[in-house]
Amino acid sequence: MIRRPLIATILACSGLGVAACGGAGQATDVRAATGRVAADAAPGEGQSRTAAIGAGKVSERADGAPSSHADKPLAGKVIVIDPGHNGGNYKHPEIINKPVNVLTKRKPCDTTGTATNDGYSEAAFTWDVSTRLAKLLRAEGATVKLTRKNNTSVGPCITQRAAIGNNAEADAAISIHGDGAPASGHGFHIIMPKKINGPVDPVVNDSRKLGIAVRNAFHSGTGQPYSTYIGKNALDFRSDLGGLNLSSVPKVFIEVGNMRNSGDAAKMKSPQFRQKAAAALAKGITNYVS
Ligand SMILES: [Zn+2]
Repeated sequence: MIRRPLIATILACSGLGVAACGGAGQATDVRAATGRVAADAAPGEGQSRTAAIGAGKVSERADGAPSSHADKPLAGKVIVIDPGHNGGNYKHPEIINKPVNVLTKRKPCDTTGTATNDGYSEAAFTWDVSTRLAKLLRAEGATVKLTRKNNTSVGPCITQRAAIGNNAEADAAISIHGDGAPASGHGFHIIMPKKINGPVDPVVNDSRKLGIAVRNAFHSGTGQPYSTYIGKNALDFRSDLGGLNLSSVPKVFIEVGNMRNSGDAAKMKSPQFRQKAAAALAKGITNYVS
Protein backbone atom coordinates (compact mmCIF):
# COMPACT_ATOMS: atom_id res chain seq x y z
CA MET A 1 0.00 0.00 0.00
CA ILE A 2 0.96 3.61 -0.35
CA ARG A 3 0.67 5.54 2.85
CA ARG A 4 -1.98 8.16 2.44
CA PRO A 5 -3.17 10.77 4.87
CA LEU A 6 -6.48 9.05 5.50
CA ILE A 7 -7.52 7.82 8.89
CA ALA A 8 -8.87 4.58 7.45
CA THR A 9 -5.59 3.81 5.76
CA ILE A 10 -3.57 4.59 8.82
CA LEU A 11 -5.77 2.32 10.89
CA ALA A 12 -5.48 -0.43 8.32
CA CYS A 13 -1.73 -0.18 8.32
CA SER A 14 -1.33 0.05 12.06
CA GLY A 15 -1.85 -3.67 12.51
CA LEU A 16 1.78 -4.17 11.61
CA GLY A 17 3.02 -1.80 14.24
CA VAL A 18 4.92 0.16 11.62
CA ALA A 19 3.59 2.54 9.04
CA ALA A 20 2.94 0.79 5.76
CA CYS A 21 4.23 1.45 2.28
CA GLY A 22 7.76 2.88 1.86
CA GLY A 23 11.32 1.51 1.14
CA ALA A 24 15.17 1.61 1.69
CA GLY A 25 18.18 -0.05 0.02
CA GLN A 26 20.27 0.22 -3.06
CA ALA A 27 19.69 0.50 -6.76
CA THR A 28 20.43 -2.85 -8.18
CA ASP A 29 20.11 -4.65 -11.44
CA VAL A 30 19.06 -8.03 -10.16
CA ARG A 31 19.44 -9.90 -13.39
CA ALA A 32 22.27 -11.78 -11.79
CA ALA A 33 20.14 -12.65 -8.77
CA THR A 34 17.04 -13.76 -10.59
CA GLY A 35 18.80 -15.28 -13.58
CA ARG A 36 18.09 -14.40 -17.13
CA VAL A 37 15.19 -16.51 -18.24
CA ALA A 38 15.19 -18.33 -21.53
CA ALA A 39 12.28 -17.66 -23.82
CA ASP A 40 10.67 -20.99 -23.00
CA ALA A 41 11.36 -21.10 -19.27
CA ALA A 42 8.60 -19.36 -17.38
CA PRO A 43 4.94 -20.37 -17.22
CA GLY A 44 2.73 -17.85 -18.87
CA GLU A 45 5.55 -16.42 -20.90
CA GLY A 46 4.40 -17.79 -24.23
CA GLN A 47 0.95 -16.42 -23.62
CA SER A 48 2.23 -12.96 -22.87
CA ARG A 49 4.65 -12.87 -25.78
CA THR A 50 2.03 -14.12 -28.20
CA ALA A 51 -0.42 -11.55 -26.97
CA ALA A 52 2.14 -8.79 -27.27
CA ILE A 53 3.22 -9.72 -30.75
CA GLY A 54 -0.21 -10.45 -32.09
CA ALA A 55 -1.26 -13.20 -34.43
CA GLY A 56 0.48 -13.32 -37.77
CA LYS A 57 3.10 -10.74 -36.86
CA VAL A 58 5.96 -13.14 -36.20
CA SER A 59 8.31 -13.11 -39.16
CA GLU A 60 10.40 -16.14 -39.96
CA ARG A 61 14.04 -16.53 -40.80
CA ALA A 62 15.26 -18.78 -43.63
CA ASP A 63 15.81 -21.58 -41.13
CA GLY A 64 12.25 -21.33 -39.92
CA ALA A 65 13.01 -19.83 -36.52
CA PRO A 66 11.26 -16.60 -35.54
CA SER A 67 13.41 -13.56 -36.21
CA SER A 68 14.83 -11.92 -33.13
CA HIS A 69 13.06 -8.67 -33.95
CA ALA A 70 9.61 -10.21 -34.07
CA ASP A 71 10.33 -12.45 -31.11
CA LYS A 72 11.61 -9.58 -28.97
CA PRO A 73 9.10 -6.75 -29.21
CA LEU A 74 10.76 -4.98 -26.27
CA ALA A 75 14.32 -5.13 -27.63
CA GLY A 76 16.04 -1.85 -26.83
CA LYS A 77 13.48 -0.89 -24.20
CA VAL A 78 14.35 -0.34 -20.55
CA ILE A 79 11.74 -1.13 -17.92
CA VAL A 80 12.21 -0.45 -14.22
CA ILE A 81 10.14 -2.46 -11.76
CA ASP A 82 9.84 -1.26 -8.18
CA PRO A 83 8.65 -3.98 -5.78
CA GLY A 84 7.09 -1.97 -2.96
CA HIS A 85 8.72 -2.12 0.51
CA ASN A 86 11.22 -4.80 1.53
CA GLY A 87 11.04 -7.88 3.76
CA GLY A 88 13.68 -6.58 6.16
CA ASN A 89 12.21 -3.12 6.63
CA TYR A 90 10.46 -3.97 9.89
CA LYS A 91 13.77 -4.81 11.51
CA HIS A 92 15.25 -1.39 10.80
CA PRO A 93 12.91 1.41 11.86
CA GLU A 94 15.95 3.65 12.35
CA ILE A 95 16.57 3.47 8.61
CA ILE A 96 13.09 3.44 7.13
CA ASN A 97 11.68 6.12 9.43
CA LYS A 98 14.32 8.65 8.43
CA PRO A 99 12.52 11.55 6.73
CA VAL A 100 13.17 12.25 3.07
CA ASN A 101 12.09 15.14 0.88
CA VAL A 102 9.52 14.22 -1.78
CA LEU A 103 9.11 17.86 -2.91
CA THR A 104 5.52 18.28 -1.75
CA LYS A 105 6.30 17.15 1.78
CA ARG A 106 8.72 15.21 3.96
CA LYS A 107 7.91 11.60 4.73
CA PRO A 108 9.63 8.41 5.89
CA CYS A 109 12.35 6.87 3.71
CA ASP A 110 10.19 3.76 3.42
CA THR A 111 7.60 1.75 5.35
CA THR A 112 6.98 -1.90 6.11
CA GLY A 113 3.93 -2.24 3.90
CA THR A 114 0.76 -4.02 4.88
CA ALA A 115 -0.14 -7.74 5.05
CA THR A 116 -3.09 -10.09 4.86
CA ASN A 117 -4.81 -10.85 8.14
CA ASP A 118 -2.98 -14.18 8.31
CA GLY A 119 0.42 -12.61 7.75
CA TYR A 120 1.29 -12.78 4.04
CA SER A 121 3.26 -9.58 3.68
CA GLU A 122 2.92 -6.95 1.02
CA ALA A 123 6.70 -6.99 0.59
CA ALA A 124 6.64 -10.72 -0.23
CA PHE A 125 3.73 -10.19 -2.61
CA THR A 126 5.34 -7.31 -4.49
CA TRP A 127 8.65 -9.17 -4.73
CA ASP A 128 6.98 -12.27 -6.17
CA VAL A 129 4.92 -10.40 -8.76
CA SER A 130 7.88 -8.22 -9.70
CA THR A 131 10.23 -11.13 -10.34
CA ARG A 132 7.57 -12.88 -12.41
CA LEU A 133 7.05 -9.67 -14.38
CA ALA A 134 10.79 -9.22 -14.90
CA LYS A 135 11.09 -12.69 -16.44
CA LEU A 136 8.23 -12.02 -18.83
CA LEU A 137 9.60 -8.65 -19.95
CA ARG A 138 13.12 -10.02 -20.42
CA ALA A 139 11.71 -12.81 -22.54
CA GLU A 140 10.30 -10.08 -24.78
CA GLY A 141 13.75 -8.53 -25.08
CA ALA A 142 13.53 -5.71 -22.53
CA THR A 143 16.34 -4.62 -20.28
CA VAL A 144 14.76 -4.83 -16.83
CA LYS A 145 16.00 -3.31 -13.62
CA LEU A 146 14.49 -3.86 -10.20
CA THR A 147 14.85 -1.38 -7.37
CA ARG A 148 15.85 -4.07 -4.89
CA LYS A 149 17.67 -7.36 -5.24
CA ASN A 150 15.89 -9.56 -2.69
CA ASN A 151 13.11 -9.54 -0.11
CA THR A 152 15.28 -9.83 2.97
CA SER A 153 17.00 -6.47 3.21
CA VAL A 154 16.04 -2.85 3.82
CA GLY A 155 14.77 -0.17 1.45
CA PRO A 156 15.78 1.57 -0.71
CA CYS A 157 14.26 4.91 0.25
CA ILE A 158 11.44 6.08 -1.96
CA THR A 159 13.71 8.83 -3.30
CA GLN A 160 16.22 6.23 -4.46
CA ARG A 161 13.49 4.12 -6.01
CA ALA A 162 12.63 7.06 -8.25
CA ALA A 163 16.29 7.78 -8.98
CA ILE A 164 16.83 4.23 -10.21
CA GLY A 165 14.23 4.72 -12.94
CA ASN A 166 15.67 8.10 -13.84
CA ASN A 167 19.27 6.87 -14.01
CA ALA A 168 18.21 3.94 -16.17
CA GLU A 169 16.39 6.38 -18.48
CA ALA A 170 13.54 3.92 -18.35
CA ASP A 171 10.94 3.85 -21.12
CA ALA A 172 8.47 2.93 -18.39
CA ALA A 173 8.59 2.32 -14.66
CA ILE A 174 6.05 0.64 -12.42
CA SER A 175 5.83 0.38 -8.65
CA ILE A 176 3.92 -2.66 -7.44
CA HIS A 177 1.92 -2.66 -4.21
CA GLY A 178 -0.93 -4.28 -2.34
CA ASP A 179 -3.22 -2.04 -0.33
CA GLY A 180 -4.14 -2.08 3.35
CA ALA A 181 -7.53 -0.38 3.18
CA PRO A 182 -10.64 -1.07 5.29
CA ALA A 183 -11.74 -4.68 4.84
CA SER A 184 -14.98 -3.82 3.07
CA GLY A 185 -13.20 -2.41 0.01
CA HIS A 186 -11.76 -4.49 -2.79
CA GLY A 187 -10.35 -4.29 -6.30
CA PHE A 188 -7.29 -2.72 -7.91
CA HIS A 189 -6.30 0.80 -8.81
CA ILE A 190 -3.55 2.64 -10.65
CA ILE A 191 -1.90 5.73 -9.18
CA MET A 192 -0.49 8.35 -11.55
CA PRO A 193 1.43 11.57 -10.88
CA LYS A 194 0.13 15.12 -10.87
CA LYS A 195 2.03 18.21 -11.94
CA ILE A 196 3.83 19.69 -8.94
CA ASN A 197 6.10 22.23 -10.63
CA GLY A 198 8.82 19.61 -10.38
CA PRO A 199 10.73 16.96 -12.34
CA VAL A 200 7.64 14.83 -12.90
CA ASP A 201 5.73 17.50 -14.79
CA PRO A 202 7.08 16.65 -18.28
CA VAL A 203 6.08 12.99 -17.91
CA VAL A 204 2.65 13.44 -16.34
CA ASN A 205 0.88 12.94 -19.68
CA ASP A 206 2.92 9.88 -20.64
CA SER A 207 2.44 8.44 -17.17
CA ARG A 208 -1.29 8.80 -17.63
CA LYS A 209 -1.08 6.89 -20.92
CA LEU A 210 0.99 4.21 -19.23
CA GLY A 211 -1.53 4.05 -16.40
CA ILE A 212 -4.48 3.59 -18.72
CA ALA A 213 -2.64 0.90 -20.73
CA VAL A 214 -1.81 -0.97 -17.52
CA ARG A 215 -5.33 -0.48 -16.13
CA ASN A 216 -6.91 -1.93 -19.29
CA ALA A 217 -4.56 -4.90 -19.57
CA PHE A 218 -4.75 -5.69 -15.87
CA HIS A 219 -8.53 -5.59 -15.79
CA SER A 220 -8.99 -7.81 -18.83
CA GLY A 221 -6.06 -10.09 -18.02
CA THR A 222 -6.92 -10.85 -14.40
CA GLY A 223 -10.63 -10.15 -14.03
CA GLN A 224 -9.78 -8.18 -10.91
CA PRO A 225 -12.48 -5.50 -10.55
CA TYR A 226 -11.86 -1.78 -10.30
CA SER A 227 -11.37 -0.53 -6.76
CA THR A 228 -14.62 -0.03 -4.88
CA TYR A 229 -13.06 2.42 -2.41
CA ILE A 230 -10.71 4.75 -4.23
CA GLY A 231 -10.24 6.49 -7.57
CA LYS A 232 -12.52 6.52 -10.57
CA ASN A 233 -12.54 3.53 -12.91
CA ALA A 234 -9.44 2.31 -11.07
CA LEU A 235 -7.53 5.53 -11.79
CA ASP A 236 -6.20 7.81 -9.07
CA PHE A 237 -3.85 10.81 -9.20
CA ARG A 238 -1.59 11.83 -6.33
CA SER A 239 1.08 14.39 -5.53
CA ASP A 240 2.29 13.01 -2.19
CA LEU A 241 4.31 10.03 -3.41
CA GLY A 242 8.07 10.36 -3.68
CA GLY A 243 8.23 7.53 -6.17
CA LEU A 244 6.12 9.61 -8.56
CA ASN A 245 7.04 13.19 -7.68
CA LEU A 246 10.74 12.52 -8.21
CA SER A 247 10.36 10.50 -11.41
CA SER A 248 11.50 12.03 -14.69
CA VAL A 249 10.43 8.94 -16.63
CA PRO A 250 6.86 7.70 -17.23
CA LYS A 251 5.85 5.89 -14.07
CA VAL A 252 2.77 4.54 -12.32
CA PHE A 253 1.93 2.63 -9.18
CA ILE A 254 -0.51 -0.26 -9.05
CA GLU A 255 -2.32 -1.37 -5.92
CA VAL A 256 -3.19 -4.90 -7.06
CA GLY A 257 -5.81 -5.48 -4.39
CA ASN A 258 -6.74 -4.82 -0.79
CA MET A 259 -4.83 -7.28 1.38
CA ARG A 260 -7.25 -6.61 4.27
CA ASN A 261 -10.20 -7.80 2.16
CA SER A 262 -10.70 -11.55 2.38
CA GLY A 263 -11.49 -12.04 -1.30
CA ASP A 264 -8.55 -9.99 -2.53
CA ALA A 265 -6.25 -11.59 0.04
CA ALA A 266 -7.14 -15.07 -1.18
CA LYS A 267 -6.30 -14.06 -4.74
CA MET A 268 -3.05 -12.38 -3.82
CA LYS A 269 -1.88 -15.44 -1.87
CA SER A 270 -2.40 -17.59 -4.97
CA PRO A 271 0.69 -18.16 -7.16
CA GLN A 272 -1.63 -18.66 -10.14
CA PHE A 273 -3.15 -15.23 -9.62
CA ARG A 274 0.27 -13.66 -9.20
CA GLN A 275 1.41 -15.17 -12.48
CA LYS A 276 -1.73 -13.92 -14.17
CA ALA A 277 -1.14 -10.49 -12.67
CA ALA A 278 2.45 -10.43 -13.92
CA ALA A 279 1.37 -11.45 -17.42
CA ALA A 280 -1.29 -8.75 -17.48
CA LEU A 281 1.19 -6.11 -16.30
CA ALA A 282 3.66 -7.23 -18.97
CA LYS A 283 0.97 -6.84 -21.60
CA GLY A 284 0.01 -3.37 -20.38
CA ILE A 285 3.62 -2.19 -20.32
CA THR A 286 4.26 -3.70 -23.75
CA ASN A 287 1.18 -2.02 -25.16
CA TYR A 288 2.44 1.32 -23.86
CA VAL A 289 6.07 1.18 -24.96
CA SER A 290 5.67 -0.54 -28.31
ZN1 LIG B 1 2.65 -0.50 -0.45
